[in-house]
Amino acid sequence: MTAPVLLWFRNDLRLADHSALQAALAAGAPVLPVYVLDEEGPWAPGAASRWWLHHSLASLGAGLRARGADLLLRRGRAAEVIPALAAETGARAVFTGAPVEPAERAHDRAVADALGAEGRTLHRVRTTLLFPPEAIRNRGGGPFGVYTPFAKACLAQPDPPPPLPAPATIPGARGPTSDRLESWGLLPQHPDWAGGLRATWTPGESGAAARLAAFAGKPADRYGADRDRPDRDGTSMLSPHLHFGELSPGQVWYAVGRDRTAYIRELLWREFCQHLLWHHPDMPEMPLRAAFTEMPWRDDPAGLRAWQRGRTGVPLVDAGMRQLWQIGWVHNRVRMLVGSFLVKHLLLPWQEGERWFWDTLVDADLGNNAGGWQWIAGCGADAAPYFRVFNPVLQGRKFDPDGTYVRRWVPELARLDAKVIHAPWEASDDTLAAAGVTLGRTYPRPIVDLMGGRDRALAAFAALPKA
Ligand SMILES: Cc1cc2nc3c(=O)[nH]c(=O)nc-3n(C[C@H](O)[C@H](O)[C@H](O)COP(=O)(O)OP(=O)(O)OC[C@H]3O[C@@H](n4cnc5c(N)ncnc54)[C@H](O)[C@@H]3O)c2cc1C
Repeated sequence: MTAPVLLWFRNDLRLADHSALQAALAAGAPVLPVYVLDEEGPWAPGAASRWWLHHSLASLGAGLRARGADLLLRRGRAAEVIPALAAETGARAVFTGAPVEPAERAHDRAVADALGAEGRTLHRVRTTLLFPPEAIRNRGGGPFGVYTPFAKACLAQPDPPPPLPAPATIPGARGPTSDRLESWGLLPQHPDWAGGLRATWTPGESGAAARLAAFAGKPADRYGADRDRPDRDGTSMLSPHLHFGELSPGQVWYAVGRDRTAYIRELLWREFCQHLLWHHPDMPEMPLRAAFTEMPWRDDPAGLRAWQRGRTGVPLVDAGMRQLWQIGWVHNRVRMLVGSFLVKHLLLPWQEGERWFWDTLVDADLGNNAGGWQWIAGCGADAAPYFRVFNPVLQGRKFDPDGTYVRRWVPELARLDAKVIHAPWEASDDTLAAAGVTLGRTYPRPIVDLMGGRDRALAAFAALPKA
């Protein structure tokens, strides 16, 4: 019997445009696809990601089965599971993507060593990036620390290779017994919590393709104008599909088209964050600007809890945090706003926000999340200047001018009119009473004075050692 090759899926849970799958097929042997749930380390998938992963693996398993191969599921330490499977099945080679996450890269090194010791080989083939991190270098040969020249360097490269179709058949190998997906307990204990996720998302490759097709038609043309408006469906909502690799960034690049530059620039923000993580593996924990380790962050469990639950008394912040809780996703402008409120108005460490997002976002992504939080905290490679503090009232009036977004997610304020909905504490008692709002009872008073919080943050920043 011909020895199989292993195809080790990571965050590239798709069959189309999958170069590691193509390389495995080219080896001319039966293919044994495998996914390992490795929950070691601080960045094991959070609750929303686990929900997504369950459904995405179910979809991948069905796609493989329809083509002739069964997905083998194993739980444990990847560095042990993969070499043991290779030994058990006699596989000479293992094909896999080339993830950027530090823990995944450590797995790769350990697996490559263990396989190598037995004369087997790990082939890493890029599946999740547009451009290899080694190829995008500044004039001095180092990595870019600033987005704009990074994006320019990417756009000067030849276009990424056109996407490959999914193979019609995959010669499957007879493999050892798989774990049952249900036995992994990835779905939440309280199915009610996932109601908003189920209503919003279709995890898996075909759900991803459908969302891409829907966006790449008309909405992509309005993206430049609509992308900052949380009250409109102006963005692609492809982030969880991209995170789990149900779509490759190359598929998105070609479907949307490089001429739609406003959108391609956002895809390159993703690329930038991924490359940053590759160059700075401690980015999820450590500020890229070292001075920020001295920041006198506050300890305020009640404030943190109010922020997490959308009970800060600041309508746009609460709307964003409730959207996050209910559908596992928040509009980008609102992510910036709720992030700024946490690290500036409340002066709480950005890592607390990063952790909460990690647990609750369906698109929780180590590079994009750390990149977003460091950007908003002012401590990242190419960050918003710390002294730029978003004003949630002005942001609301500008980007949610009719209050539609706040009304949707904070229904107890729904009857307030647009003039006061972003600052109900400015409304007269009569106005509040007419809308059925009693501050401190039906809706909280702001947990921080916006001007006072801003000044406190600026003072803390001014006292930091200068780089
Ligand atoms: C504090 C904070 C935390 C964030 N955490 C994450 C995260 O965990 N995972 C995540 O995918 N994105 C994160 N982002 C980036 C961004 O908010 C989301 O990618 C975007 O809102 C997803 O919605 P979309 O798919 O409709 O985006 P679109 O506007 O349609 O953009 C298309 C794609 O480009 C990428 N992209 C867009 N903006 C950014 C950005 N600023 N940084 C990196 N990639 C970007 C995403 O893959 C996105 O799907 C974070 C931003 C902030 C400010």
